[in-house]
Amino acid sequence: MYNSFRSKYILIIMTKQLSPKYLQEKKLIVFDLDGTIVRLKVNWKHLKKLLEEKYYNTYEEHLKVKSISGSLSYIVNRGDEETLQEFLAYIRDYELKNVTQNEPIDETVYFIAHKEEFGISKDTPLAILSLNARETITTSLKQANIYQKIDYIIGREDVRRWKPHPEGLILIQNHFEVPKAAMIYIGDMKKDLITGKNAGVDAFIIKDFKEFVNTYR
Ligand SMILES: [Mg+2]
Repeated sequence: MYNSFRSKYILIIMTKQLSPKYLQEKKLIVFDLDGTIVRLKVNWKHLKKLLEEKYYNTYEEHLKVKSISGSLSYIVNRGDEETLQEFLAYIRDYELKNVTQNEPIDETVYFIAHKEEFGISKDTPLAILSLNARETITTSLKQANIYQKIDYIIGREDVRRWKPHPEGLILIQNHFEVPKAAMIYIGDMKKDLITGKNAGVDAFIIKDFKEFVNTYR
């Protein structure tokens, strides 16, 4: 029952077709970073282990870190802003270690650099909503030579409820003051699609976006 509900649910949020006409009507395009614009070279499994140790050293409590932002939510729930800042800095430094080894995802980088070729107005802003640190995001964008093309960034430090909670998309919406129907979000995980759904924003998976870019460029 649950599974059939879930597959229907995913189907419903993926039925819209990406086309130049559809995209041209949008007033704001938002991208995820890792797996969408670049592939980060981070050993997430190792980082999770380190965070488990760090959590134990801080609170003398065992925490099974299933996701990085999940571990941060525990700290937020404790109301411990100081430890939260420490964890954010620690995760950022770990992410940045191998940042020069990023691999760009050609289709997305091309689209961001040449959106007018797809009929998108030069005035349509592009934004990032990512679970990575702001510095990881800005460094990655600079390496891919598209930093100047991005108008607004929401990274890990900027929210207290992480994807699939819609807080990040709503902050971006409020910044640009556009209706939800005029926004889209592109990411590589089911979590990104659910974030869109939770925010009431159309979301697309990177595979379909790459196909769109390759069809129309
Ligand atoms: Mg991603």
